[in-house]
Amino acid sequence: MSALVLQRCAECDYIANFWRIGCPRCLGQLAAFDAQGAGVVTTFSIIHRWVARFDEHLPIVLVVVELAEGVEVMASLVGDDRVNVTVGAPVEVAPEGWSSKSQFRLATGSTN
Ligand SMILES: [Zn+2]
Repeated sequence: MSALVLQRCAECDYIANFWRIGCPRCLGQLAAFDAQGAGVVTTFSIIHRWVARFDEHLPIVLVVVELAEGVEVMASLVGDDRVNVTVGAPVEVAPEGWSSKSQFRLATGSTN
């Protein structure tokens, strides 16, 4: 399994952007699959204050990523260059991060 697993409906091909017990569109059965792990940032917020246990990760960059599969997920952006994020920046899954949310990093070779 890759670092990012999504679910697709076997009946209607709906792809869920968070874990569900059944398809919200047709009540069909969902099956897990490995996502490509790539997408683009559609919006972001840079957070400079959070609870103390996250101090070492500040500033925290929260992003909404439109995945190659066509669904959006909320995630954290990691990496020393994370504050250089822009809307439209290509990102890829970062499995080594600290958060329990999905984590991405700016894609290699990105100039954004
Ligand atoms: Zn369905």
